[in-house]
Amino acid sequence: MPGGKKTIHSIAELHAAGLVSTAELTALKEVAARYAVAITPALAALIDPTDPNDPIARQFVPDPAELVTSPTERADPIGDDAHSPVEGIVHRYPDRVLLKLVHVCPVYCRFCFRRAMVGPRGRPSLTRDQLAAALAYVRTHPEIWEVILTGGDPLILSARKLREVLCALADIDHVRIVRIHTRVPAVAPERITAERIRALKAIDRAVFVVLHANHPRELTAAARSACARLIDAGIPMLSQSVLLKGVNDDADTLGALMRAFVEMRIKPYYLHHPDLAQGTAHLRTGIAEGQALMRDLRARFSGLCQPAYVLDIPGGAGKVPVGASYVAPSRADGGASDYRVDDLEGCPHRYPPGEP
Ligand code: SF4
Repeated sequence: MPGGKKTIHSIAELHAAGLVSTAELTALKEVAARYAVAITPALAALIDPTDPNDPIARQFVPDPAELVTSPTERADPIGDDAHSPVEGIVHRYPDRVLLKLVHVCPVYCRFCFRRAMVGPRGRPSLTRDQLAAALAYVRTHPEIWEVILTGGDPLILSARKLREVLCALADIDHVRIVRIHTRVPAVAPERITAERIRALKAIDRAVFVVLHANHPRELTAAARSACARLIDAGIPMLSQSVLLKGVNDDADTLGALMRAFVEMRIKPYYLHHPDLAQGTAHLRTGIAEGQALMRDLRARFSGLCQPAYVLDIPGGAGKVPVGASYVAPSRADGGASDYRVDDLEGCPHRYPPGEP
């Protein structure tokens, strides 16, 4: 297994680590010129270079297929920019905003929905003035109950900066919840230091940490220990995963991932249908396949292991649940108003209308 001490940032380093073949070098250099590359030592150590279908490699090692952009793919697939009143803020839903402090990550996912914005050549981090303007926007919108730190990965920030931003948010009375979307506890668990945990605990608000992980192998002993440090400190954790072809698009893998989260005391929250990001078609599944997987998951695994399967409508119209439905109006008796409800084996049952 490869695994040096430094993050891999270039195709040459990937080649030296035995993670890409000589035949692919030219195409991969072109990929790396378009989309950022980073693989932390913790992740590189997980990749089996002898397995051409390794699920960790599929998520992080560039693929020549990324050079193909299909007509339905977009640079800003979920329409962040259409809902950005000031730099760094995305206000898509009434009671919450995204606050994008940075556009860098410890790793760069090959399916990233913000791949046109993140990375060393991506958008810059918020300046002090831009941050002040973003906070002013939150302050002057009393309907904002929750602020979601995302980007980029907010836990790449120093403990000092994190504490400064959290304290500024806690100074705003109507902000009651701060949510942090991150891959750090799994891909760079050494960053979950006592100092960063103290920063997350510095405010009298509920701070949720939402871990992004897509395959059970990402949840190593070090990752589990980093999450346990957060949870033991009183920080609740949720998960989010992206449904990815060849990574987790089978019920055994998805179920194992959800069980691992629950065993770590992390409640599965979202399973995202992959967004129409440029050069990612080779990693996407269809919605029907996703719904069938969710049916399997529901039939075979505990209710604690059920994330909401969601789709961000391209262009920015928002996130909606797209999981399988078990209930539909039934017209079998000629009447207008009773329901057909399918059980977990797919057998139909009737439920009367208007009954409590
Ligand atoms: S961690 Fe998130 S923002 Fe960063 S590359 Fe991965 S998907 Fe994109």
